[in-house]
Amino acid sequence: MSYTTEVLERVIAQNPAQPEFHQAVKEVLESLEPIISQNEEVYRKDALLERLTTPDRQILFRVAWIDDQGQTQVNNCYRVQFNNAIGPYKGGLRLHPSVNLGIIKFLGFEQVFKNALTGLPIGGGKGGSDFDPKGKSDREIMAFCQAFMTELMRYIGQDTDVPAGDIGTGAREIGYLFGQYKRLKGTYEGVLTGKGLTYGGSLARTEATGYGLLYLVLELLRDHQIDLAGKRIAVSGSGNVAIYAIEKAQQLGAKVVTCSDSSGWVYDEAGIDVDLLKEVKEVKRARLTEYVKQRSSATYHEGKGVWSVKVDIALPCATQNELDLADAKQLVANQVLAVAEGANMPTTLEATKYLQAQGVLFVPGKASNAGGVAVSALEMSQNSGRLSWSFEKVDQELQKIMTNIYQTIAQAAKEVGCQGNYVVGANVAGFKKVAEAMQAQGVY
Ligand code: NDP
Repeated sequence: MSYTTEVLERVIAQNPAQPEFHQAVKEVLESLEPIISQNEEVYRKDALLERLTTPDRQILFRVAWIDDQGQTQVNNCYRVQFNNAIGPYKGGLRLHPSVNLGIIKFLGFEQVFKNALTGLPIGGGKGGSDFDPKGKSDREIMAFCQAFMTELMRYIGQDTDVPAGDIGTGAREIGYLFGQYKRLKGTYEGVLTGKGLTYGGSLARTEATGYGLLYLVLELLRDHQIDLAGKRIAVSGSGNVAIYAIEKAQQLGAKVVTCSDSSGWVYDEAGIDVDLLKEVKEVKRARLTEYVKQRSSATYHEGKGVWSVKVDIALPCATQNELDLADAKQLVANQVLAVAEGANMPTTLEATKYLQAQGVLFVPGKASNAGGVAVSALEMSQNSGRLSWSFEKVDQELQKIMTNIYQTIAQAAKEVGCQGNYVVGANVAGFKKVAEAMQAQGVY
């Protein structure tokens, strides 16, 4: 049995009932096969893949807080510190009722490779809770965040582990978490990223993941002599990543005709009105039905359906496994040219393989959505230097980083004889960097 198959079987046996984690590890190990087999004896002896697929630390704790009715509520919380070979653990905190240990581990594992691809010194981690911020009052959100940080603060720090936002954790939640850390620790340090601009946040962090996605798509298309201007794009989601992906796509001359949330989706033939979408989602925190009430060119549809629309480019920006094989077939039937992931692992393995086999340009999230964590690392640099960079400076750095990520993954794919396979390219390039750092630092 090959070393990669052996390690995959070990991961599945040792981590039962964690399908998302198995999926993420399978995708990575399968695509590393060509380079692992060249050096199998050394990697086996060092148990490199066992170490790479086992988190350094998995912290589980409960948090109790009091709701507006005076009732005590209890939530399960997690911080998985996956790998710090190239820098302090770094990765967001997800607040969503679906959160469990397997989901946090898949996200932490992906984060290790993503962070390596940015070229910046950050290791991989992830955390979160099954707390659902939806429908909660501001006071309840604050009570939960304070209780969460009261426990989490034992495990994090500006030089050890620096969490950020993710699904359900936006500027408001980061503010409450930061305030509680500062209160308890008594120091003013950059322990979280995605902070508000008045207390150590970086300009362009809010926009970074969505903008970065488009910068990478631009480079991908340029490499294949395709213009982005004039293209029709389907975006899923209507959160942080989706909103700023839509904004940048339209600034670059493309037309985005869809967006979605967990209840339904919108088709807007005139192109999504991003100011209206921000008003509905960022200010009113309302459902997408509010968007169509104020937009005569748009129609609202219950459930799932974004991938049925005829577009040139698809950008899944909501959540994991939201684009399956049937969706991929529909996109191919509609002659889609490219799919680039804004969310983490939004495409199932079967769908990814089908898209690639049909010649669709496909970029995995660990490369295409790395702009968020890259600017988070720039926020850490600004905090350490007690500096604030201009929007233009951060945006320029982001463009450089995303262009570089595309070139790195394209080159890595070519070097292992898989030209144009950006899944292989991203995994190989990320792995090489982390593996080299782990080997240099000895067994631990
Ligand atoms: P937000 O919470 O801001 O938005 C998430 C969006 O996805 C919302 O529209 C939400 O709808 C929808 N969504 C969430 N869960 C589901 C679900 N189970 N089914 C259908 N729709 C769902 O999160 P972000 O935009 O920050 O994150 C989106 C994705 O991008 C995630 O995979 C995240 O891990 C990834 N990512 C985020 C980064 C960042 O900087 N924010 C960086 C890199 C990756 P509703 O409001 O109805 O729940």
